[in-house]
Amino acid sequence: MTQQDNKLFDIPADDNEAALREASKRIDALRREIEHHTYLYYALDAPEITDFAYDSLMRELRELEDKHPELIVATSPTRRVGGYVGEQFAPVTHEQRMYSLDNAMDLEELDAWMTKIEETYGHLPELCCELKIDGSSIALTYEDGVLVRAATRGDGTTGEDVTANIRTIKDIPLHLRDEAMPAVDPAFSSIELRGEVYMPKSSFEALNHAAEANGKAPFANPRNAAAGSLRQKDPHITAGRDLSTFIYAVANTASLEVSGQWELLQWLKSAGFHVNPDVAKCKTREEVKDFCKASLEKRDSLAYEIDGVVVKVNSFAEQAASGFTSHAPRWAIAYKFPPEEKTTVLTDITVQVGRTGVLTPVAELSPVVVAGSTVSRATLHNEDEVHRKDVRIGDTVIVRKAGDVIPEVLGPVLALRPDDALVWQAPKTCPSCGMPVIREAGESALRCVSIDCPAQALERLLHWASREAMDIDGMGEEIIGRLVEVGRVSDVADYYSLTQADLEMLDMGRTNKDGNPIHLGTTVALKLLDAIEQSKSRSFDRVIGGLGIRHVGKNTARDLAEAFPSMEAIASAEIDELSEIHGIGERVAKAIWVFFRTPDNVQVIERLQAAGVTMAASTGEADDTPKTLAGLTFVLTGSLDELGLTRDEASDRLRLMGAKMSSSVSGKTSFVVAGTAAGSKYDKAIKLGVPVLDEAQLARIFETGQPPVV
Ligand code: AMP
Repeated sequence: MTQQDNKLFDIPADDNEAALREASKRIDALRREIEHHTYLYYALDAPEITDFAYDSLMRELRELEDKHPELIVATSPTRRVGGYVGEQFAPVTHEQRMYSLDNAMDLEELDAWMTKIEETYGHLPELCCELKIDGSSIALTYEDGVLVRAATRGDGTTGEDVTANIRTIKDIPLHLRDEAMPAVDPAFSSIELRGEVYMPKSSFEALNHAAEANGKAPFANPRNAAAGSLRQKDPHITAGRDLSTFIYAVANTASLEVSGQWELLQWLKSAGFHVNPDVAKCKTREEVKDFCKASLEKRDSLAYEIDGVVVKVNSFAEQAASGFTSHAPRWAIAYKFPPEEKTTVLTDITVQVGRTGVLTPVAELSPVVVAGSTVSRATLHNEDEVHRKDVRIGDTVIVRKAGDVIPEVLGPVLALRPDDALVWQAPKTCPSCGMPVIREAGESALRCVSIDCPAQALERLLHWASREAMDIDGMGEEIIGRLVEVGRVSDVADYYSLTQADLEMLDMGRTNKDGNPIHLGTTVALKLLDAIEQSKSRSFDRVIGGLGIRHVGKNTARDLAEAFPSMEAIASAEIDELSEIHGIGERVAKAIWVFFRTPDNVQVIERLQAAGVTMAASTGEADDTPKTLAGLTFVLTGSLDELGLTRDEASDRLRLMGAKMSSSVSGKTSFVVAGTAAGSKYDKAIKLGVPVLDEAQLARIFETGQPPVV
């Protein structure tokens, strides 16, 4: 600062410097104090001050930093939320590979693993048992004690840089506590720690409630919610998601002067990390199994989801002696809990009419939390299934989530059946339009064949706007329902004639506290109009899929879009021409042919075309990706959490390399890729002898462009 500057403010130079020194001292003290309380709160779970007192310390620090921006440092507790991540997350190569774990599906398999371990070492080594947190794994790199990078697991070798988002998680220290530094080997200026990011059950429920209220798709489970929150482009969104962590590993055990897993957990705690308190150091098999049983019992009462117990050889020296297989350490195993099953009361069986007229019986359940989220409905698929399972209204039923995602009623608890339990009768008429329903020979579904059925129309409208079809953001069930009720929309082409006035004045059928009707309002109306406009340029296959042609799902829609240049070409194709296309059989070909010869459908397509909706395959830039997977058929199952990709994204990438994607496993399937919580497709693959790939192998395909040798 020059003399001149000081004159300007009329403050003598010395005073200015003294003020700065004072501020710097206070800022240091505040940061230390805040970090100390953060440590007490998150690592030790023993807060000493109220939230209010903590917040006022933060406020004072923020104010001082605002006044003296030159004193701001990246590790300040005020600097957790930064700027946008950018279009793409940068790749990060892990210092050491992030392995997955071998599984023991029951206590016998766990016992067998312990026998193997005993043989390897000549004795049963001390074992460290931890809860298996059902979240998303992360690697945190600290250089000279300061957090410099955080990455997802990715394919185990390369993950994505999610530092900006990880910094927003309050229980992750931005720098290691001084007390922990002496144990860091000075030869290592950088250490990589690992753990799990998770979303507490209650935050997950709240997030899903909010999503549903805003017409957004809810997350299937807390694990997906955590993984999704980590991959936000805007760290402010991640900051609002209430994520937490449990840290449990160091990539290179040589970088720390600790001798084993148990000691490592103590060190992590002293360094400021949130370490799960439920751990046990076990000397006998019984102790290990008791820990597993006790953990299973307490599963429900925990604030976060766990899906098993991880058992690790405690000593690092002994771990090193047995090393790793190609994908997992030999010195650890994950004992997986059986899928969570709950009992609840089946209060009713209602009937839903789908967009193609199929009537589906739905179990209405007393709300019950299963695998992390509240379940109040579950499909019963069809009439035969209801009778096969012998579920009656009033029964207590067993519920679980298939593949941890889709709720399923397993059957009744007969001992609890009340005398007045009601046997369900399939309806003879459509609950929506009242027309008689039919059941075609060879089909298990009841179907309403009326063209004017309002329930079918509503489902078609919902499907068109849905994320997997035209993705009209914000156009959810409530708004569509209102648009139908007021008669403004009855088919999908009507979306494109909606005006701002139609939408902003849309009566939502509710009143505010003064008794006045609630309208949609201008802000939402403008957003919706924008989303409708954007939907016009969705790809050709999405438009085909969005039309809701019977038997035409996403994959068939893609096959059609590849085989035909335009909607006109599909519309004029004959049945034999259609059935020649790979993946399309006679039955599907017939349904497509009928669809395009139904005058109402033709008229809707003409209006969509006039509105400017895509009606032909893109003639954009030629795709020059080598088709190294041509001739191979892939099926994806489970969620690809570790790769951080949705199944659609992974499918797109495989397709670009020439692969065919299918939604069901058959003898013709070349590979099944099984992600987390893979479902029945995995079982079928094993039965048929179809090779099953894990996420790391899929990542190799993306990397090399070559199919694996099996
Ligand atoms: P899986 O995804 O079933 O192969 O299980 C392996 C994953 O379990 C690891 O990648 C970790 O992300 C996760 N995990 C959760 N809790 C623990 C724990 N306490 N120790 C080791 N891994 C854990």
